[in-house]
Amino acid sequence: MAEKATSVLMLSLGGTIAMTAGSDAGGVVPNLTAEELIAAVPGLAETGIDVHVQTFRQLPGASLSFDDLTALAALIADRTATDGMDGVVVTQGTDTIEETAYLLDLLHTGKAPVVVTGAMRNPTIAGADGPANILAAIRTAASPAARGLGALVVFADEIHAARHVRKTHSTSGGAFRSPNTGPLGHVVEGTVRLLNHPPHRLTVPLETVIRVPRVGLYTVSLGDDGALLAGAEGLDGLVVAGFGVGHVPQRLVEKLTALAARIPVVLASRTGAGPVLASTYAFPGSESDLQRRGLVSAGFLDPYKARILLHTLLAAGAEPEIIAAAFGACGTGDPARWPWPALSQQPEMQHA
Ligand code: ASP
Repeated sequence: MAEKATSVLMLSLGGTIAMTAGSDAGGVVPNLTAEELIAAVPGLAETGIDVHVQTFRQLPGASLSFDDLTALAALIADRTATDGMDGVVVTQGTDTIEETAYLLDLLHTGKAPVVVTGAMRNPTIAGADGPANILAAIRTAASPAARGLGALVVFADEIHAARHVRKTHSTSGGAFRSPNTGPLGHVVEGTVRLLNHPPHRLTVPLETVIRVPRVGLYTVSLGDDGALLAGAEGLDGLVVAGFGVGHVPQRLVEKLTALAARIPVVLASRTGAGPVLASTYAFPGSESDLQRRGLVSAGFLDPYKARILLHTLLAAGAEPEIIAAAFGACGTGDPARWPWPALSQQPEMQHA
């Protein structure tokens, strides 16, 4: 009997990859459907992969919401469970991929890989990268090597873990990098080659994510007087992107201490790579001072990913001890502290 072809579901959300000329404004807007995107990919038929498509949203990345992404995670859970999809590709605006992919990684517990991609050059200009990125993403989503890896970002033939990837350039085709780890692997001559396997997936049960918290991000800067922190009053949680290893100006310390007594306040580094430290500096506003005052270390999570994690934990109703434990697990990579069972991320054993 003939073997069933590998099935991949591609869900399009808009973004540059789906943008063509709009009516009068002169620039491009997201108006291509998933069917139109897939029709522009050369060499897809030769892969033998059975690709199903659905236009889920037609938005710029900047306008995607937590509601859109939670609905997307629910659809992915449903289609992979009931329709037997082996993998999923999500195409969207690159502006928010580093956040959306990490949110999907937190909410997706299934084995089917969820591969997020987009384009830096829209379909109307020379060297548009969308078709190549879609093909590499579909190959990755269909690959047995990627099963169980959660959400991935595939761009320019590099495969990145959603939890580590950053958009590091506003226009370059090689904008996606994982500064702390490097890519997990590459798509080489159409074949997925994984060089690294993160040991665990840390996920939050989707059915618990029912609240709608307001979580802010505050970046400190030179001479900051903390006046803008007044805007944090109505928030349920705050991420502070501090200098270096987690430092803020001394004059912010009392305000942050008062906030941390009321809501979870997470301390991340605004540098773009490397961890928040715990016990190296001791001046007022240093990383050790702030953590003693109740701020929670984001560890290796950058400010944007820390905000996604804090939002997800608050949406799941997590109390402060659970939030601290979850950041301990995610930020430092110690899965034993994760409040839900950690899923193995080791490759599946092949049985004869
Ligand atoms: N520059 C963006 C992109 O690459 C626009 C967006 O995020 O929608 O897709």
